[in-house]
Amino acid sequence: MTSERIPLSRPDVSSLEVDEVVGVLRTPWLSMGPKVREFEARFAARLGLKHAVAISSGTAGLHLALRATGLRKGSEVITTPFSFVATANVVLMEGARPVFVDIDPDTLNMTPEAASEQIDQEYVRRGEHLVRGTTGAPLFGLLPVSVFGHPVDMDGFAALAKAQGLRVVHDTCEALGSLYRSRAQNAWVQEAALADAAVFAFYPNKQITTGEGGMVVTDDDAIAAACRMGRNQGRQPGADWLEHEGLGYNYRMDELSAALGVAQLRRADDLFARRDQVARWYDEALAPLDEVERPRAAPWAKVSWFVYVVRVRRGIDRDAVMRHLVGRGIAAKPYFPSIHLQPHFRALGYRAGDFPVTEDIASRTIALPFFTTLTRDQVHDVAHELKEAVYAGIKA
Ligand SMILES: *Cc1c(COP(=O)(O)O)cnc(C)c1O
Repeated sequence: MTSERIPLSRPDVSSLEVDEVVGVLRTPWLSMGPKVREFEARFAARLGLKHAVAISSGTAGLHLALRATGLRKGSEVITTPFSFVATANVVLMEGARPVFVDIDPDTLNMTPEAASEQIDQEYVRRGEHLVRGTTGAPLFGLLPVSVFGHPVDMDGFAALAKAQGLRVVHDTCEALGSLYRSRAQNAWVQEAALADAAVFAFYPNKQITTGEGGMVVTDDDAIAAACRMGRNQGRQPGADWLEHEGLGYNYRMDELSAALGVAQLRRADDLFARRDQVARWYDEALAPLDEVERPRAAPWAKVSWFVYVVRVRRGIDRDAVMRHLVGRGIAAKPYFPSIHLQPHFRALGYRAGDFPVTEDIASRTIALPFFTTLTRDQVHDVAHELKEAVYAGIKA
């Protein structure tokens, strides 16, 4: 086995984080203490939103946000098949059904147009009313994902949701720091503000990390209250330890994670800038390589770089290219396999061929090493090996 010279991802932890976390260890509060409250307050202020509720993971945050916005068993949620599998899994966890729509080949995101078409074609054909509560299998909402840090067109989703009486939960686990030029406001905004609830994640490969962790943000008091209760065994804030108002989970973030988050948030602009720089180095190094397509961004989008994912041209054996890279000690991963082709989604009736754009892109993508401390030399090293791999792949 070759040893890995360049990993896919690496967290950026400085002495600021170490001091914050050690500081917590010197207090008696390891859970449900002041650091979680501080992290939430700073996060909400940073986004200009009323509520931020810290959660034990992004997946748990999505689960709570869907429950808090009113998702029920048997409902249907329009979402993308090109994401991390957790996006669609949380819909299944509630006994609801994900209805996938194909993605835009440039932004790699679900579009409001595709979601709207899906509503027209499928539901109108079935002669059903769409508005929540009026049918046996009501369409509940939209679950767009800002994949790889490229924002979705949230004005479009908000307008569609308003017209159809739907909820919007935004999976923005990969997009902290991304900006979107909102048509409504003609200003660069965090899209999180435009959905009923948005969910961030802080796994170590994300833009900022808490180890494990996530955050639900919303301007809606009732959604925030439901998330606070749901994460804490159904307790109302301030309630006694053994007083449970409803069904809940243990989805709490601990104080050590929150301390890590406070320090990372303080460094966020610097971390975003470093990721930007690495992406520019890749763009530069890969520009001469015609066999590889670089990430594309819509003119109305400011990408917050989560991963650097390239696509090999059709006809090149992507898996052979990845094997070559890994053989040279360079990590590479096929971000993302189509969700609808995972076994538990095939079991729902989804088949190869259902979403041709997603499937074509999923068969050609490679995530390259990407993290803040990657050097220019390492980027050129990766680019060089990728070039060799692509030529080897063409010959194969
Ligand atoms: C990371 C991620 C999640 C889940 O976050 P965890 O903290 O790992 O549970 C959900 N959706 C997307 C798109 C992600 O990238």
